[in-house]
Amino acid sequence: MITEEYIANLPDSPGVYMFKDEGKNIIYVGKARSIKDRVRSYFRKGYKDEKTERLLRKVEDVSIVLTGNEKEAFLLENNLIKEHQPRYNINLKDDKTYVSLRLSVQDRFPSLTITRKIKDDGALYFGPHPHAKDAKDLLKVVQAIYPMRRCRDSVFRARTRPCILAGIDKCPAPCVDEIDEKAYRAIVDEIADFLSGRNEKLLKKLEEQIEEAARTWNFEEARVKKEKYLAIKRLVEKQHVHEHMGINRDVWGFLTEEPRVKVVLLSFRRGVLISKRLFKEAAGPDLGDSLSSFLFQYYATRPIPDEIVLSEEIEDKPYLQQYLKEKKKGQVRVHGPSDAGSADIIRLAVENLHEVETAVDLPDAFRRMLHLSKAPERIEIYDNSHSHGQSPSGTMVVFEGGKAKKNDYRVFHIREASPEDDVAMMAEVLRRRVNDEKIRPYPDLVVIDGGKAQLAAALSVFKSRALPMDVIGIAKGERRKRMEDVLYLPFRKNPLLLPKSSPVFKEIVRMRDEAHRFAVSSHRRWKRREDLTSGLAEIKGVGKKRLTALLAQFPSIAAIREAGVDAIAAIPGFTRNVAEEIVRTIAEKEGEA
Ligand code: SF4
Repeated sequence: MITEEYIANLPDSPGVYMFKDEGKNIIYVGKARSIKDRVRSYFRKGYKDEKTERLLRKVEDVSIVLTGNEKEAFLLENNLIKEHQPRYNINLKDDKTYVSLRLSVQDRFPSLTITRKIKDDGALYFGPHPHAKDAKDLLKVVQAIYPMRRCRDSVFRARTRPCILAGIDKCPAPCVDEIDEKAYRAIVDEIADFLSGRNEKLLKKLEEQIEEAARTWNFEEARVKKEKYLAIKRLVEKQHVHEHMGINRDVWGFLTEEPRVKVVLLSFRRGVLISKRLFKEAAGPDLGDSLSSFLFQYYATRPIPDEIVLSEEIEDKPYLQQYLKEKKKGQVRVHGPSDAGSADIIRLAVENLHEVETAVDLPDAFRRMLHLSKAPERIEIYDNSHSHGQSPSGTMVVFEGGKAKKNDYRVFHIREASPEDDVAMMAEVLRRRVNDEKIRPYPDLVVIDGGKAQLAAALSVFKSRALPMDVIGIAKGERRKRMEDVLYLPFRKNPLLLPKSSPVFKEIVRMRDEAHRFAVSSHRRWKRREDLTSGLAEIKGVGKKRLTALLAQFPSIAAIREAGVDAIAAIPGFTRNVAEEIVRTIAEKEGEA
């Protein structure tokens, strides 16, 4: 049953959605820029055509696969429709596959053709292109620049004379051995480079050849090469480089939710995301061991791709790689989360671990996903701030049972640590918090705004007092283009990635945002008080002595204002005139603020 609450928990990301009936059969596959918006548009009240009404009456569940962008969603949708033949797609979609360019490098004299089928036949495939016109245009570009055979294999084998293409210099006529294999292969290599987007290398090579030809007075050759050079430059700029088909890659995302580990596998074949599989396994005592045994078992009976990317570091990675290489009898690379180039694709896998959950027991979900000692009831979040090194402070906000407990919020004005040293500031704030007998009880979970260093400082403070609370950090991830929030857990080398749409992650971000809001607003209040204090010091007749006496009597500006002229004038050493001036100044300053 698809409810509004269910839809609200869908991710706001590009991808493919699959409507399923009560027998879990896929009855419709669609793509969307935002899965949440697209699915919501189906279930919104209002007029719908009869076919859509019929479809919606049967929908009981929605499965999703998140993709990196809309183009990937487009290609994946097509694959899934072909694979599952959903009942409500058949009349809407034709059965075409996307086109690719095929360079038959396994042949003695290869050709470049357009195809809709990708086979494991030793040829190189470039694409796929959602629009056939793109592939046709690209083929024309290559044919305009490079002389090569265009005849079919059967024609090629049967020729005894070259065709017209040889006469207009568009083919070097390998059919009658007018070009040797080595020279023809050099052309094929250039085409492969060109189609793979390695144009820079190709252009540089051409530049060198032009110079060499000119240097040796071979002006005809220099002219031909120069024309080719300019044609490539022009066309590359206009056409955009078409991406290489890419490699076969399996990307694994893991998420422990005690007592289980959730596993997602995204399979890319020749660069295209073709499927997503979810597994739920019982977690063993050691996550790394459980994962490597799972992977060994999985690949024992399945095709091994060129590259495997894992969202968790496993100790057995070298053995796994060696085992897979031997089994495949070819190259296999296994990458972990800290390897260059893995971050974005791992993030996509982790996002695909998202499952729509409603009515979640949040404290227990916190315990399971963050590996806490217990389900937290009281959570404290700490954040530091200062303005250009001035007035550094740490703030503490408190949540109990998921609700902000504003009366328990605190501000700690930094006394010892340097405002440049965020880690020392965090340690000072936490030390003062746990030492302050007036701030009780202790929290079950401490969330600090910071990464590994701040987390280590917090752990050291709690350890020195033998306090058993759980601690985590939330910070912007390192080396990430989009600076997404990641979580740091004690005794974990890499940050913990949770799907952005998971209720636990959303809750932590909400609490951290509240800590930021409180830090900013308390900072403003503090600044205003400082301004008022300095404003009072400027009043004629209010010297250092009277100001100290005034602030000793009334702890805040609000208290001075509320006390009024009579109470201020009654302070020893004050006159009525001075008291009236003070009240007037406060009213003025507060009016400005
Ligand atoms: S010249 Fe020969 S190889 Fe070239 S296209 Fe014509 S028939 Fe084919």
